[in-house]
Amino acid sequence: MATELDAVIIGAGFSGMYQLLCLRDRLGLQARVLEQGGGVGGTWYWNRYPGARCDSESHSYNYTFSKELLAEWQWSERYPEQPEIMRYMNYVADKFDLKRDIQFDTKVTGAHYDARANRWEVETAAGERFIARFLITAVGCLSTANVPKIPGLESFKGEWYHTGQWPHDGVDFSGKRVGQIGTGSTGIQAVPVIAEQAAHLTVFQRTANYSVPAHNAPLTAEFQSWLKDNRDEVTAVMRSTPNGHPFRISERKVFDVSDAEREQIFEEAWGYGGLQFRGAFQDVLVNKSANDKAADFIKRKIRTIVQDPEKARILSDIDHPYAAKRPPIDTFYFEAFNRPNVDVVYLREEPLERVTPSGIKTAKREIPLDIIVFATGFDAMTGPLLALDIKGRDGVALKDVWAAGPRNYLGLQVAGFPNLFTITGPGSPSVLCNMPVCIEQHVEWITDCIGMMREKGLSRIETTEAEMDKWVAHVNEAAHATLLPQASHSWYLGANVPGKPRVFMPYAGGMVRYREICAEVVAQDYKGFVLAD
Ligand code: NAP
Repeated sequence: MATELDAVIIGAGFSGMYQLLCLRDRLGLQARVLEQGGGVGGTWYWNRYPGARCDSESHSYNYTFSKELLAEWQWSERYPEQPEIMRYMNYVADKFDLKRDIQFDTKVTGAHYDARANRWEVETAAGERFIARFLITAVGCLSTANVPKIPGLESFKGEWYHTGQWPHDGVDFSGKRVGQIGTGSTGIQAVPVIAEQAAHLTVFQRTANYSVPAHNAPLTAEFQSWLKDNRDEVTAVMRSTPNGHPFRISERKVFDVSDAEREQIFEEAWGYGGLQFRGAFQDVLVNKSANDKAADFIKRKIRTIVQDPEKARILSDIDHPYAAKRPPIDTFYFEAFNRPNVDVVYLREEPLERVTPSGIKTAKREIPLDIIVFATGFDAMTGPLLALDIKGRDGVALKDVWAAGPRNYLGLQVAGFPNLFTITGPGSPSVLCNMPVCIEQHVEWITDCIGMMREKGLSRIETTEAEMDKWVAHVNEAAHATLLPQASHSWYLGANVPGKPRVFMPYAGGMVRYREICAEVVAQDYKGFVLAD
């Protein structure tokens, strides 16, 4: 027996929870969230690795739809740590009584569109079936772990973990020889914490990375009181900046100032720390010569912090423009390499050959290990969607439609898949924006759309091939107006997963422009969509 609903939402992270609230409490729909995990939190439910913390400042890493919620919740530190984010998500879920419509420990294994009935049929690993008019994916962009296929891993006698599938009761590193592969945002957060606990840590670096100090600290009573008085202004700034963060990007350009002034500005930005470093000048992400100045500043900082010249050389040997890959921020990452128990192995100079029963073998040596940590990232953006085995009209599979890379309209809809909405899908600003900001916009847009359909007695919405072509071209154009595609090994391009098509996936035109485009689409009677009774 299938359960009949108006809408099935897949995933109970930031997007799925708010989508449930909107459909159930604002539109009065029968909606249910199916969630693979045992609790709310989405990506944060799984990412419990050492040092897991959000890079968005905490006062901007929350919903803004409820003034009451904003007034009630107080973050404790400048950047929220994973357990505190989980407490927040649970607080929201309880406050709005969401859990009664979230089915946990429920893995979706298939979702097929029945054109005759104009319904989606959703199946779970336990064999349950759900039938609904609308299907909304809220599966996150970075939720499918990428464990590289390294020969010999199955022979390893020690323990190994991927950061995105971290054991809930933690990992005891004490007295252990640990090897960590990966130096992205995750690896950079994990290194200093593992280094403090382990007997020895070897960091296997393939691509050196920039990082700026986070300068995390408890939020003071003074800040909390300022925030209380300025909350509306903070929200307004978040909604008016291209990346959804609560700071404005400077209007000055890198070459508007003298060398000495520029150095001073970078020093101040470094001293303030965090993602705001990118905002010190407006042209760092669009002008390579301007970017070189920021890159050079950070490389010099790395060489100043890291005392061992050989480690400093390896860690500062960065081959891409600053922030062309998602720029990490850290808490004593480079400093960790000054510890006697931390080494770095440069895989570009001694490629990783295999995992052996007792460690990792590179082209030059074998390093004995008790634990291997894979901080190797995710099959980003498309991975979580394709894992759902979504089939649209005539049984056409999404994985076939996207064989050469994701194609959709506004990041929200795919032709041939009526009434399916993908929150923060490829082609939307998503990962280039402070996530709660773009999630709220998407969810509210989808809610308004479904509300309009019900009011007008419409039962089907679907975009067209032509509209997808135009949107994909616009997404490409927006990416190529920046330096982002120049990091050829970035997950933005799918380059971190062997065999994945190289297509720049997120929309780089900025959240403000995207919001305007979505509003124009509505103003022009859902231009680009075909609506039917
Ligand atoms: P990532 O940025 O994709 O980094 C993965 C790392 O693993 C890279 O250094 C990569 O090297 C390396 N790697 C992958 N496969 C490898 C292989 N076969 N051999 C050797 N090295 C390999 O992944 P991530 O650090 O998990 O971050 C993903 C995204 O999650 C971030 O960019 C960010 O958007 C988000 N995130 C956010 C936060 C936060 O807000 N605090 C924290 C963590 C993550 P290459 O560069 O050479 O491919």
